[in-house]
Amino acid sequence: MSSAECNYKIYDKELLIIIWAFEHWRFKLKLTDISIKMFIDHQALISLMKDKELSRRQMRWVQKLADFNFKIMYRSDKQNIKIDALTRRADFVPRDLDDERIWYQRTTILTLNWMKIADLKKNNDQSIYKQVLETNEIDENCTLLREAIARDETQYEDIKLKNCRTQNEILYHDSQLWVSFNELLQMNLIREIHDQSSIDHSEILRTVKIIKRNYYWSSMRKTIDQYIWNCYVCQRSKTSRDKSNDLLQSLSISEQRWQNIVMNFIIDLSDSYNYNVILTVICKLLKERHYIFCITDDEDITIEKTAEMLLQWVYQTQNLSSFIVFNWDSQFIFILWKFLCKRLSISL
Ligand SMILES: [Zn+2]
Repeated sequence: MSSAECNYKIYDKELLIIIWAFEHWRFKLKLTDISIKMFIDHQALISLMKDKELSRRQMRWVQKLADFNFKIMYRSDKQNIKIDALTRRADFVPRDLDDERIWYQRTTILTLNWMKIADLKKNNDQSIYKQVLETNEIDENCTLLREAIARDETQYEDIKLKNCRTQNEILYHDSQLWVSFNELLQMNLIREIHDQSSIDHSEILRTVKIIKRNYYWSSMRKTIDQYIWNCYVCQRSKTSRDKSNDLLQSLSISEQRWQNIVMNFIIDLSDSYNYNVILTVICKLLKERHYIFCITDDEDITIEKTAEMLLQWVYQTQNLSSFIVFNWDSQFIFILWKFLCKRLSISL
């Protein structure tokens, strides 16, 4: 992805993947009469071709897609585990700060929110407490609040003054020092506390609790939330909720014919002599193959039938394989092995 593409919103990023896929397989996809099904885990894209409010870029893309006969179908994350395993490989994860993808990620986070972390510079000459105190004294809004308290008002605009008090012209909320409505000051205060080594980028609740010991401003929780959502260190160290994926393992090289085999069902074919499914069984070493016409409309693909077909068409002439690659779930393979062993009187 280019740096500009890294900054696309998630809807556009997902859409971009579709465009790339169609561009990559353009010649094959244009020639087919069959409606192409595209499975995606971003539900909002299902109504893409019917959306009336599209940006210029999206309209350009939709025009490109109009050449194809396709349907976008939603598939939830849970059902999409195999695709995730391919796209979230451990070796795709950025290793260090020099990785340009880290920089693009940072750009994305900052442009999506209003916070200007780059403006927050450490000011060693003045403690943050002193800065808050000085601003409290001279800030216009704090002055207005002090005047409202002096008039015994219980509310000033949307701020409840019940727990507010003044002491030596300093505004407090209970025993906490009032922080003025100065965005940069609030950010500096949060940074000073959240980033210090003893706190070490604590999660939101702990940071709020620590700040609340001494400071207060209205909607402080919202400000702290936003700071931590934008905190680069917190974002990087956030625990991933994705299933951890191991590196893809390459298959061992076969030493004998038919030792490792690859199986697959080609389904939804047009009827031919009442058959519409082909089981392909390929020897990994020599690429010899069996095509077994197997299932009709009235039958289901069962594990027992698959085992019988292997015994009848493959293992009658070949030795039993030691490794089967099959794109069905691991449970299918496990039970298939059990059937095969049982039929061949092999005890496990
Ligand atoms: Zn942090």
